[in-house]
Amino acid sequence: MIRRTIRDIAAMIGADHATDLPETSVQGVCTDTRTVTPGALFVPIRGPRFNGHHYAADALAKGAAAALWEKGEPGRPDHPAVIEVDDALAALQRLAREYRRQIGATVIGITGSNGKTSTKDMLAALLSTTFRTHKTNGNLNNHLGVPLTLLGMEENTEMAVVEMGMSALGEIAALATIAEPDAAIITSVSEVHLGDLGTRERIVQAKLEIVGPLRPGGLLAYCGDYPQLEEEIGRSGFRGKRIAYGVQPSNELRPLHWRADDSGFAFVLDEREPDKFAAPIHGRHQMVNALGAIAVARHFGVPEQSIREGLYGAALSGLRNEVVRVGECLILNDAYKSNPASVRAALQTLYDFRKPKRKIAVLGDMVELGEESEQLHRDLGRELDPGRIDLVVTVGASAARMGEEAVPRFGADRVAICADKEQAIARLLRETLDDCVVLLKGSRVLGLESIEQALRDKG
Ligand code: ATP
Ligand code: MG
Repeated sequence: MIRRTIRDIAAMIGADHATDLPETSVQGVCTDTRTVTPGALFVPIRGPRFNGHHYAADALAKGAAAALWEKGEPGRPDHPAVIEVDDALAALQRLAREYRRQIGATVIGITGSNGKTSTKDMLAALLSTTFRTHKTNGNLNNHLGVPLTLLGMEENTEMAVVEMGMSALGEIAALATIAEPDAAIITSVSEVHLGDLGTRERIVQAKLEIVGPLRPGGLLAYCGDYPQLEEEIGRSGFRGKRIAYGVQPSNELRPLHWRADDSGFAFVLDEREPDKFAAPIHGRHQMVNALGAIAVARHFGVPEQSIREGLYGAALSGLRNEVVRVGECLILNDAYKSNPASVRAALQTLYDFRKPKRKIAVLGDMVELGEESEQLHRDLGRELDPGRIDLVVTVGASAARMGEEAVPRFGADRVAICADKEQAIARLLRETLDDCVVLLKGSRVLGLESIEQALRDKG
């Protein structure tokens, strides 16, 4: 984490009274008084419900060494280590960019509609076999999370893997300007935040904003399985190094042979070196994420054997294709987020399971899809395969449209359209769940993961 004197920090931010400030040292940055650590710099952030300035005095009393303060804001604490700024968030972002420049670590920025966190975790696992590696904690991928991630680097960090999320045009450009990546990964482009962005073209453009602030000679790795992304990159005039990865034959980095099933995925990249790359991670989409991580790890010189070992040991964040056993029943818990592409990926993962006798898909609403929401739910309902799913349980009013589309092919007794989670749990508890695999997939707000607990309580 950042360790500088208050005076240095003020200079890094560009505050106009740096020389009046004490030489006391600061370590770390926090924006929340509940997590203040001794010696931290407190940054007051304005949210829709809170004004961080109201908490600054408390933060200083709890051991923060210094605080930023926006000029003109009443109630400035009477403390020698208050750094006055015009805009606290902008100051935090400037501090992060300056610190990133001083540290000189290699930064890899990761964006995309789905798969950022998974790819981040895998890439960090590969890089940390060889380099002192820092990565985004969890999913802290926004205007606040990215600067805090960078400021979390130690002085001797060699590699930083930084997740960048967005919900509007311009946001990735702003994050990448702070992080100045040496390499970027675009994991996927699909209908996530379609409601906010309006069109698919804008979704692709928003991801490509990561390319502008790439450092000279920087690498762009992207999933070439999305033709729209390939086209837009061509059109963008990007002339730097790039590598496409994915399962399609057109990709420069692609598996020659592969499998994805109950035990995870495995693939071969080179006939001359038939040693497999493998991980006990479920889903062929996660194998594609692994390819992105490999492309970048190779670029920075991680030895092949270390890549194999790092990949095998990589651990993903929770609720992303987690497989847990409840009695004789397997639960594929993918309840972290939901949108058409990640539902398709989750269904494919369910189809790829070999052993269980019965497969149940619990599918909740996909939120934030805007005007096309109903159509996108219906499209998915029509794609559900009655040959590979035994029972469909939909949860919520939008997901009901999926259920309606499924009924003609599945028959009414194999589709349960439930208004809420409680109805879905009641329906599932009527089933014999032995030797079953149950997929839980829905947007975060539905909290479908609690179904796992309900089934556990029954068992
Ligand atoms: P967020 O925008 O919430 O930060 P994210 O981009 O970080 O999401 P992950 O957390 O890695 O994505 O995964 C979210 C969901 O998308 C999970 O259900 C995961 O299984 C699925 N997923 C991961 N990678 C892909 C991919 N390449 N294609 C489709 N779905 C994916
Ligand atoms: Mg994420």
